[in-house]
Amino acid sequence: MKPTVELVLLVAAHNEEAALPAMHPRLLAVAEALGPGVRVLYVDDGSRDGTWALMSGFIAATPDRVGALRLSRNFGKELALTAGLDHVPPGAAVVVLDADGQDPPELVPAMVARWRAGAEVVFGRRSERHGEPLLKRATAAAFYRVINALSDTPIPRDTGDFRLIGPRAVEALRGLRERQRFMKGLFAWVGFRAEAFDYERAPRVAGASQFNYWRLWNLAIEGITGFSTVPLRVATYVGLFSALGAFAFGVWIILRTLMWGDPVAGWPSLMVVIALLGGLQLMALGIIGEYLGRLYLEAKQRPLYIIDEARLPAA
Ligand code: UDP
Ligand code: MG
Repeated sequence: MKPTVELVLLVAAHNEEAALPAMHPRLLAVAEALGPGVRVLYVDDGSRDGTWALMSGFIAATPDRVGALRLSRNFGKELALTAGLDHVPPGAAVVVLDADGQDPPELVPAMVARWRAGAEVVFGRRSERHGEPLLKRATAAAFYRVINALSDTPIPRDTGDFRLIGPRAVEALRGLRERQRFMKGLFAWVGFRAEAFDYERAPRVAGASQFNYWRLWNLAIEGITGFSTVPLRVATYVGLFSALGAFAFGVWIILRTLMWGDPVAGWPSLMVVIALLGGLQLMALGIIGEYLGRLYLEAKQRPLYIIDEARLPAA
């Protein structure tokens, strides 16, 4: 009888043919050292290079250990991870790792030890960010400050997706079917006893990062709108205070006209007020639009991802 699956090492990869040959032996070694109930599950997030061929080769070499899902196109890392989580056998814990070696697989046994000691979630916290430019570190720090000021779900700073998620937390995560996803926030939202695990984030083994600043900015907006409605309230208050200001200004104009008459001056002040209010209205509409757009995407109820091919090891 085959042993049941206890732990799945989940790796989402998009165009990682350069990194995977170095990464796979390390993952496999860790899985083998941890015992027969440990699997490696890849999700090919619509790669256009040799990633799927590499994965197929890994499966052919050790079909009991390794499985892979191939998405029908590039859905992005958050949805690729979701697809992977959906295919984890019930009762198994998951460790999420990057395909590029930035989250060293050699640390997994220590995370597993913490899980066995009682933590449901063990999340990696980056003590060093090797090979990341100052600007990326600064913007990341600013992002965590903003989102934690706005969101009711505390999101630990300097954490990535590298983490061990216990079976109960995996089950809970599977229940969150929103389309606009910010995994770090969802991980935090499900709760459970979580412990931080400090590690040095290694540089990529090969290839280049696919998260440029524009993508990170969009992910940040996703995180903030997904976990906070404070921006909507800000729009309300900005509107309220500018309306109060406009009212006071109106009173002042009436009084001034009554006392000194109306010499038809005031074109500059009129233009300033119109421009200011116009700007504020557009900003408030923009914020409402961000939320409305997300509501629209959710309302369509599309599947989160589409699988082209699944090659899973027998449970
Ligand atoms: N990734 C993915 N889909 C994408 C983009 C990235 O699955 O659309 C994977 C990528 O293959 C890697 C991980 O997400 O395993 C992290 O990506 P990357 O190293 O580019 O980001 P960074 O580490 O710079 O944040
Ligand atoms: Mg990386």
